[in-house]
Amino acid sequence: MNLNPCQEIMIDVTNYCNLSCPLCPNSDIRKKTNITPKQISFDKFKAFVDTLKTFPDLFVFGNKCEPLLNNAVFDMVKYVNSKSSCRTVMFTNFNLADKFKIEDIFSSEIEHFIIGLDGIDQISYAEYRTGGNFDRVINAIKKIQTYKKTHNLQFPILSIMFIVFKHNEHLREKAKIFFESLDVHVDFKRTDLYDGYENWLPEKFTKNIIINEKESEQTSSFCILPWRKATIDVDGNVFPCCADEALEFKFGNIFEKSFDKIWEGKELNNLRLFLRNEIKNIKVPCINCPVYKNNGYTDVANI
Ligand code: SF4
Ligand code: SF4
Repeated sequence: MNLNPCQEIMIDVTNYCNLSCPLCPNSDIRKKTNITPKQISFDKFKAFVDTLKTFPDLFVFGNKCEPLLNNAVFDMVKYVNSKSSCRTVMFTNFNLADKFKIEDIFSSEIEHFIIGLDGIDQISYAEYRTGGNFDRVINAIKKIQTYKKTHNLQFPILSIMFIVFKHNEHLREKAKIFFESLDVHVDFKRTDLYDGYENWLPEKFTKNIIINEKESEQTSSFCILPWRKATIDVDGNVFPCCADEALEFKFGNIFEKSFDKIWEGKELNNLRLFLRNEIKNIKVPCINCPVYKNNGYTDVANI
């Protein structure tokens, strides 16, 4: 099988979160149960990065957990940037940004923060971001933007991922004006988690990110994530995507085997063959996945 190097690595450097959002895809985080907090140490992370023969185009910190809970996260970003020219991006709720020295954030040379923030004040924000502090996040955003202006810097870019729910859909226009006044771009997204949460769904904002992205970006009649992307959990387990919520289907471990060997290994290749309809009767995480059911490809991290 002709296989290109992985284009995107997405890693969780912790296994928990400081917030408890009601629809968080990580149910342990949501319920704050069964979690023994873990973190990847800088040394372990460095050892993993040192094994990479080829760097991806995109290195993303944060998948199902909050990366700012790991105190070494900006050392990790800095290390990746020192070894490659790949783009470094962080998905975060940004509540803990102010525990880091601003100089450490900038010297890491992180390119982009994507901040989950879906309100325009504490009340509208905390309705979903349970445990979050709106002013703390906004103050951290302002601090970064001021530092950029003072030092004439372009990066890091800050953008807001505003999940549109029933309780906040009427705030979209105000949110756009508010975030633009901070020179921050805002993207409105509708959640694709429906089962059991229908009463959270917006009534007017009907854009379905899976269908829309499929229409505009589909490049294949099957999911091509296992040819492009790998996600890694705090224990070093590799997955092709974030659809396997139970973390049942592991395709190798970066602390036991080199990433390249896992990427080229039999387990991931079997998944690729399954998606191309070349083999059947293997256990894969795809059967209940909306991307698989739509016969298509959604690059949820297309940023
Ligand atoms: S901020 Fe993200 S990871 Fe944390 S609870 Fe909310 S959805 Fe889950
Ligand atoms: S079809 Fe779904 S579960 Fe399978 S690899 Fe693609 S995104 Fe993951």
